[in-house]
Amino acid sequence: MDPYKKTMTKACDVCGKPIKIDRFGNGKCKNCGWVNDKPEFTKKANYPNFLSLEDARKAYSEGRKLLPTFEIFLDILSRGFEMALWYNGNKYGAMKDCDVYDFYLWDNEEGFQEYGSIEEFGEKANIGGVLLKGLWKEIKKFEYDC
Ligand SMILES: [Zn+2]
Repeated sequence: MDPYKKTMTKACDVCGKPIKIDRFGNGKCKNCGWVNDKPEFTKKANYPNFLSLEDARKAYSEGRKLLPTFEIFLDILSRGFEMALWYNGNKYGAMKDCDVYDFYLWDNEEGFQEYGSIEEFGEKANIGGVLLKGLWKEIKKFEYDC
């Protein structure tokens, strides 16, 4: 048996269902979508998860998907992760670039937005004039761009 292909099973930290993990501990829960990670990385929302372990457990117990709230999204951005999100079939990107925060339609210069702080980004980032924070609940798909 090839030891490099060895997988084991552990209980998902969020929902308790079995997850197959490789020798590095990598594995995604097919039931709730949580990606297994070391406890030191799950105190806050960190790649590849969008919530802290505590928030993920709360979301799961309330029957919600493991998606970031707007506040958590801002926190993730402020810590330097580049994020992609989908709205109405379009992909948008958000990132911290040195000291400014950018929001943009993916691969498109049109409507490029730049803000001087994460607070300003939170207040003003918009899609076609509609505030991002206002339409947040309609956004169901996120990705880290790493
Ligand atoms: Zn799970």
